[in-house]
Amino acid sequence: MARYTGPVCRLCRREKMKLFLKGPKCDSMKCPIERRPYPPGEHGRDRMRQGSEYLAQLREKQKARRIYGLLEKQFANLYEEANRHEGITGENLLRFLEQRLDNVAFRAGWGASRNQARQFVRHGHVTVNGRRVDIPSYRVRKGDVVALKEKSRTMIVIRHNMDTLDRQMPPWLEAGAEGFEVTVRDLPMREHIDIPVREQLIVELYSK
Ligand code: SF4
Repeated sequence: MARYTGPVCRLCRREKMKLFLKGPKCDSMKCPIERRPYPPGEHGRDRMRQGSEYLAQLREKQKARRIYGLLEKQFANLYEEANRHEGITGENLLRFLEQRLDNVAFRAGWGASRNQARQFVRHGHVTVNGRRVDIPSYRVRKGDVVALKEKSRTMIVIRHNMDTLDRQMPPWLEAGAEGFEVTVRDLPMREHIDIPVREQLIVELYSK
């Protein structure tokens, strides 16, 4: 599946906030947002002014899309599905994004960023209910057990992440097997999804 491969710090600067796409660098003074907290490009500073209602909606959509690393088409398809699903569309959308397998691997603290967690999934290091699943967009369900493969548990990069990242596990996930395993206790509720996105604006954008 295609993915964005360009410079990611530009994406944060465009949203004028940290999206935490890079792992440890995001918490250091090397983060470009610390030094240049304005949009990239020659006229970046000019874009600091308040924009239209449409612009606010567009930025919220781009923010959510970039945090979870989806391309436009994938995101639009997910929105359509959230809209068809019973319940509140905006919350459904965020819930579906949270339930992605790469996001669960990120929440478990195996990957320093969602991008890295996605690579672990793509490379076959992650299993769901004992079976290898290498599809980052795989949607976990209640009761699923997501685990790192036995051989992958000794990988230096994963051990390093698990030792150094101080990541709080959301209440809908439960860690087991010394952190190498995660059980989906429940489906995520909106209040358990800590991304800084106003989903109602995304719904308004797609409802036009
Ligand atoms: Fe965003 Fe992290 Fe880059 Fe800072 S270091 S701009 S938070 S991706």
